[in-house]
Amino acid sequence: MSMKCLQGIQGSSGIAVGPVYIHDPEDPLIDYRRISEGEVDSEIQRFQFTLAQVADDLKATRTQVEEKLGRDHAQIFDSHLLMLEDAALRDPTLDAIRTSRVTAEYAFWQTFQTVRRQFDSIQDEFYRARRADILDIEKRVLAKLCQREDELLVRITGEAIVIAHDLTPSDTAHMDCDQVLGFITEVGGSTSHAAIIARGLEIPAVLGVEGALSSAKPGDMAIVDGRRGLAFLNPDHETLARYQAEARRLEEIKAGLLTFKEMPAVTLDGLRVSLQGNIELPEEVLTAATYGAEGIGLYRTEYLYLMSPRLPTEEKQVEAYGKLAREVSPDPLVIRTLDLGGDKLSYVFHHTNEMNPFLGWRAIRLCLANRDLFRSQLRAILKASAEGNVRIMFPLISGVEELIEAKSVLDEAREDLKKEGVPFDESCKIGAMIEVPSAAMVADQLAEEVDFFSIGTNDLIQYTIAVDRGNKRVAYLYDPFHPGVLRMIKSVVDAGHAQNIPVSVCGEMAGDPLSALLLLGLGVDGFSMSPRALPEIKRTIRSVTREDANLISNHVLSLRTRVEIQSYLQDVLPAEVRQALPDPLYLCLESESLDVEPESKRETSL
Ligand code: PEP
Ligand code: MG
Repeated sequence: MSMKCLQGIQGSSGIAVGPVYIHDPEDPLIDYRRISEGEVDSEIQRFQFTLAQVADDLKATRTQVEEKLGRDHAQIFDSHLLMLEDAALRDPTLDAIRTSRVTAEYAFWQTFQTVRRQFDSIQDEFYRARRADILDIEKRVLAKLCQREDELLVRITGEAIVIAHDLTPSDTAHMDCDQVLGFITEVGGSTSHAAIIARGLEIPAVLGVEGALSSAKPGDMAIVDGRRGLAFLNPDHETLARYQAEARRLEEIKAGLLTFKEMPAVTLDGLRVSLQGNIELPEEVLTAATYGAEGIGLYRTEYLYLMSPRLPTEEKQVEAYGKLAREVSPDPLVIRTLDLGGDKLSYVFHHTNEMNPFLGWRAIRLCLANRDLFRSQLRAILKASAEGNVRIMFPLISGVEELIEAKSVLDEAREDLKKEGVPFDESCKIGAMIEVPSAAMVADQLAEEVDFFSIGTNDLIQYTIAVDRGNKRVAYLYDPFHPGVLRMIKSVVDAGHAQNIPVSVCGEMAGDPLSALLLLGLGVDGFSMSPRALPEIKRTIRSVTREDANLISNHVLSLRTRVEIQSYLQDVLPAEVRQALPDPLYLCLESESLDVEPESKRETSL
């Protein structure tokens, strides 16, 4: 059996090696049967009784998940409950029972076939993620109607890597996660529930691996390389040995790196650097603390909206932000205002169907067009500021006018709270994310308006190089070391410093040791990253002087190609940091250096 290497999307980093467990829930084995007129009423009753039972089960699961993973994860089941009540799913089933005189399971299955087709015809991540929710409901109701409930559960009998077309929230909630070594799914993106839950549970995951199910059989050996977004099936002896060794090494490194947790992030010549964590869900604040974060440099609040079927109320937001502020205090909590749109669409704004969503109605643009929504979030953040060291950050700022407009809404919110006699931190710091090239070009003007900058390199790279950050076909162009990107970062840092404001980086670059070294040399004051990357970056910072880092960055700024930059950086990286990194490469196009070319990389035609 030959080895297959499949390229997917990074869902959750880490390496897992183990036997495959195939999870294929889409085979309902429905019996088609006509019913007599006399059976119609009892069939309708059976259907309605089943829906009520499923609703009860969902509520029970919701409680279990809330206990295990926290309230935000559990909210997923609210949307399931809403779907269960949806007339668009119930009425066609009832009609089919009455008019076509078929069993409830067949009528329900038929309804879902139509719904599935509708979902499949829509190409966007929001709808793909909702398809998983719909399937979850279908599976639960059919299993009850067909009395095959035991098949709902992922019955893993030993440690395994789960391969599935998709993983619904209840699949993951019902899984014995101690047995799950990793996930590989055929669909899903970095914002799908499976990815969020995998990250929360620290399970390595690769999503969007086309053809994973047809390429694997139960019991095959598999490797999940979450960091590179690669899945290997039936790895050859050498690859297996290499990954097993790398997994062991990463474990040792992790244990070793945790010793850095309590140490300050300070260069050899005594420069103190701020290292913070990025979080999507409030519970992740614990992980951030475990890895030694000195505060939260980016709280992506949109997840509060994405995980819930309706807009969170101001009170709910105050509760969530206030709790976080207390937990993180006295360290800072940087709350980024909503960055919905692009690939992150909520139930409320899913009607937007844009040709270029990343260039469209997103983030601050969406907020400025929905003043009530924006004001309610700003009021909630301000109220929470009374409970800790809260900072407010605006995403996707493209120029001064937009920033001034956002600040004026904030001023209104402040005035209202003052009138209402509600306490808040009047000196709460305001920051702008620099992630659009036009903002980088006018950073000197923006710096006059805010207390800090945070460079969102994920978007800055995508917009500077005009390369969709989620498109596998152009991934080879997505280059954090592109001289254009580096020059832009340098000019933003210089503009911020000329105005005496600190400049940090909160994109993925901040969590990559080579990039961090460069950023340090470019003068970046703080780094905010996925919490698991913190110890590695702390070690990198502690192994150089600021002067060394400056020299390195200056030299890099004179280089022209990625190959030159990569090989230079590998040469100058302090030995102890290099040894700790995954073999053989840890740069943007890591998979290129593997012996096996990922299947999808070979595609050259449409
Ligand atoms: C970024 O763009 O670098 C960033 C941190 O924001 P997000 O990844 O949420 O777009
Ligand atoms: Mg961004």
